[in-house]
Amino acid sequence: MRTNIGKSTQSIWGGEQEHELYERSTQVPVVHSVSFAYKDIDTWHKVALGEEPGHIYSRNTNPTVRAFEDKVKVLEGAQAATSFSSGMAAISNTLATFLKPGDRVVSIKDSYGGTNVIFNEFLPPLGIEVALCATGDYEELETQIDKGCTLLYLETPTNPTIKIVDIKRLSAKAHSVGALVVVDNTFATPINQLPLELGADIVLHSASKYLGGHADALGGVICASKELVQQVYHYREINGATLAPMDAYSLLRGMKTLKLRVERQNDNAMAVARYLESHPMVEQVNYPGLESHAGHDIAKQQMSGFGGMLSFSVHGGLDAIKKFLPRLNYAHMAANLGCVETVVGPPVTTSHVECTAQERAAAGIPEGLVRYSTGIEDIEDLINDLEQALSVLK
Ligand SMILES: *Cc1c(COP(=O)(O)O)cnc(C)c1O
Repeated sequence: MRTNIGKSTQSIWGGEQEHELYERSTQVPVVHSVSFAYKDIDTWHKVALGEEPGHIYSRNTNPTVRAFEDKVKVLEGAQAATSFSSGMAAISNTLATFLKPGDRVVSIKDSYGGTNVIFNEFLPPLGIEVALCATGDYEELETQIDKGCTLLYLETPTNPTIKIVDIKRLSAKAHSVGALVVVDNTFATPINQLPLELGADIVLHSASKYLGGHADALGGVICASKELVQQVYHYREINGATLAPMDAYSLLRGMKTLKLRVERQNDNAMAVARYLESHPMVEQVNYPGLESHAGHDIAKQQMSGFGGMLSFSVHGGLDAIKKFLPRLNYAHMAANLGCVETVVGPPVTTSHVECTAQERAAAGIPEGLVRYSTGIEDIEDLINDLEQALSVLK
C-alpha cells in the first residue's frame, strides 16, 4: 500500500487490498481454521518453504491475523509486522529473541508495570543485566548506554506519570554503541507518534488498548525491518503466543476508526487537563500538552498530538480518591485504557498493581494519583461529571 496517503485512509484500507478476500466479501473474513489443506504435496511443500504465498497452520500464520499485522505495518510506516496474543507477549517474545546471557538492557524506571517485572524479576536470573534509569535523566541514561548496552527499551508517554522520553536523542546514542532500540508506542499510537521515523529499530503495541479501541480484544504487535520481524516471528511461532483470528478481527474492525478516535481523545484530554489544572482540589496534572509539563517541548517535536492519557493527584491522597472516583457517571473504574469510554483508576489497582507500596514510592508514583484515559464522549459531559464528582472533596 502507498505510504503517502493519510492516516485515516491507512487505518481503513491498510492491509485489506493486498489479498483477495473470501467470495468477493468486502470485509476481512474471520478464518477459524487451525490448518490449511492442499491438493498436492509439491504446492504444500513450496508454501511450507515460503516459496509460494499461503498458510500452513494458524499458530504460524492466518489470513485474518495477517490483515491485522499488515494494517499496523502500514500505519507505523514499517517494512514488516508480526502479532501476539497480548501486549505482554509482544514485549516478552521480543526481549527473548534478542537477549542472551551476558547482555545488558538499558531502560527507564517508568515503563509499564508488567515490563518492569520482566526487567526486575525475569531477566537477571538468566544472566542478563538491566539498568533502569530515572526517566528524565539523560545524563544517567547516556552513561549507562556507554557502560554497555545490547538493547535500549523505551516507552513514551509513560504509564502512569505521563513522562516524555526523547526517542531521537536516545536512539542515536544507543546506535553509537551498536544497541537495538525498542519503543513501546501503546500510549501515543501511530496517529500521534512514529518511533521508527525517530530512529527506533522496533516499535511495539499492546493492541488491547488504542489500536482495538473498544476493550473487547487482547493482542500485541511489533513492527520493524523484515529481518528483525522475521527473527521475532520465528521465536513467537515456536513459543506459541499467537493472536487468535476472532481477536484479530475485532482489532481490525476497531482500527478503522483509529484516527477519528485518537483525534477526539487528544482534544478531550487537553480540555480535561486544562479544567483539572484550574481546580482547587487538584494538586498536580500530568499531561504533555500542558506548557507546565517537563516534557512539553520534546513532546511537541516528536508527537503530532499529545494523546488521550493523563494523570492527576488530588489533595487528600488515596482516601480522597476513594470518595470521588465512584461518583463519576461516565467513567469505568477499571484497569484498561485507550478505549471509547473514559476509564479511571489509581496505579495501586492498575499499572502498578504488581508492585509493593515501597516500589511505587521508589518509582515516584504517589498513592493519590488517578490515571485518566479519556474517551470519545462529549467534552461538556466529561467536565460536568468531574465537577460534580470532585465537589464532594470541598
Ligand atoms: C497494557 C500495556 C501493556 C501490556 O499489554 P497487554 O495487552 O495487557 O498484555 C504494555 N505496555 C503498555 C504501555 C500498556 O499500556
